[in-house]
Amino acid sequence: MIKITKILVILGCCIAFVGHANAGSKEDQLIDKVVAAYGGKQLLKVKSLNIKDYYKGFSYGQSHNPTMVDLVSYRSDSMIDLNKKRKDFKWIRGGKSSFSTQHQIFDGNQGYQLNHTLKTLSPNASLTYASADRRHFYYLDTALAILLNENRADAKLLLNEKSIAGSEIQLRLTIKGYEELTLYIDEKTGLIAKMSKPHWAPGKLSVYNYSDVKQQQGVRYAGSTYVTKAGQPSFVSISRTLVINPDTSNYFKLPNDYKENAPTLSFSEMMVEKIFDNIYIAGKSWGFSVFLDTGDYFIGTGGYEDLKQRFWAVQKFANMDKPLKYQVVSHHHTDHLEGMKEANELGVTFISVEEHQALIKELAQVDIKQDRFEFVKNKASFANGALQVFDIASGHATHNLITYFSQAKLLFTADMFFSRKVKGSPNGGATLQLLNKRLLKEQLDVDYFAAAHSGRVLTAEDFDYALNHIVKAQCPENWQICEGY
Ligand SMILES: [Zn+2]
Repeated sequence: MIKITKILVILGCCIAFVGHANAGSKEDQLIDKVVAAYGGKQLLKVKSLNIKDYYKGFSYGQSHNPTMVDLVSYRSDSMIDLNKKRKDFKWIRGGKSSFSTQHQIFDGNQGYQLNHTLKTLSPNASLTYASADRRHFYYLDTALAILLNENRADAKLLLNEKSIAGSEIQLRLTIKGYEELTLYIDEKTGLIAKMSKPHWAPGKLSVYNYSDVKQQQGVRYAGSTYVTKAGQPSFVSISRTLVINPDTSNYFKLPNDYKENAPTLSFSEMMVEKIFDNIYIAGKSWGFSVFLDTGDYFIGTGGYEDLKQRFWAVQKFANMDKPLKYQVVSHHHTDHLEGMKEANELGVTFISVEEHQALIKELAQVDIKQDRFEFVKNKASFANGALQVFDIASGHATHNLITYFSQAKLLFTADMFFSRKVKGSPNGGATLQLLNKRLLKEQLDVDYFAAAHSGRVLTAEDFDYALNHIVKAQCPENWQICEGY
């Protein structure tokens, strides 16, 4: 008898030690407190939630002007079906004058992306119940309280860990298929004051702060959410509408007259190709460069990370060893400057506008002498006219350098004109019309179009098609959040 009791005690101790919440454990007591704070029985009766959020986000590294941080408007409409584990997520990014929409549905088994402008419906295997709403449930503390209650065994109390917010009790949620989330629970109220998760920068956090507690059908929720990423302001709520157990009949609808998206190229391996005499294209994933062999040296375009890998791939492919003397810097967006450290290490002279000098140095992480910059004022020519560079102001960025390879009649652009479809011409947008205007003004004859975001070289026919098929974003009429758009 005594022996058996001892074994039970030891087992009990070990289960508690691995950190799973058991009935009566400290975790369980705390979760009970959270459930009570968010409405107790009323919370347990919640079968579905509809959250409509209007919020603003700060656009670091992707702003229009290199000296500013833009403020971007967002609207989201998320329907969460807790019983059937379905999500329907509608999203608007941008203001009325320029915006894009996104619609994703997870039907309990399969994720879909819908494009109501192109009338396409595409299954997407990477979408899950957790991710179909672009993880917008993080914005709502009540959704986290429900997730916590549903996954009690995956919660672990963190003791003796320094809180980022003072006196709150920390619970770490490690649920399969979810990111690791740390909840900061107010000891007095039982409400979730904050949630944090690891940021992509090592040692940094994304922190969601919940405030302005409100109540709806006996269920508590935060009226406002404020998000910081790696310590910087990221998103802030403007207004929130929460409906408990809403009518879901207008959601989770998969149109049967939509067609599937055209197959796309993934560029998972480094590709390198000689596309014309002395001109090479190299790249993988979302970063591509075109290199011109001028005889004594190369001139490069495309500033994505792994610039060295692309350049070395070309050197190896062409079996030559020449320096990269110049690198054209397309514009100031951070993703297109990730390769600047490598470009600097290769000893290039940067072909850029003066306004981008400071950011190039910042990304290169060293001071670069003035004589290693060639500033373009409107246009410039290199290697005896073999390569010409033009500066275009667009809605995307105040300065965009486009590169023309005269002999091949090839134009290289970033974020202006490209396709990752296996075949077929892309549609155009407002930026393409600006580009066309400039090409006409400069009387540039372009036969081929290469780009920073695709290894596929497009033709003059593709360009004409795109110009004749300009697509303007439309907000679907039956979306409530489209009001005023
Ligand atoms: Zn850009």
